[in-house]
Amino acid sequence: MTATDTYSIDRAQTRRPSRARSKSVLFCTECGYENPVGGDWEISQQGSHERRCCPNCDAVVTDR
Ligand SMILES: [Zn+2]
Repeated sequence: MTATDTYSIDRAQTRRPSRARSKSVLFCTECGYENPVGGDWEISQQGSHERRCCPNCDAVVTDR
């Protein structure tokens, strides 16, 4: 019965930050890949231009 208790707490914690995370986590719209802004993204910089590509499917996630 303790195992069930721990599990429900775990689920509550994973559900809770969904709003706060949306600011610092980027999603690939092509394949659904998810990573923090400073995470796994392939960043190519051209002058002041920074572009993040999905390491999974190579789609451009941010282009600014
Ligand atoms: Zn992708």
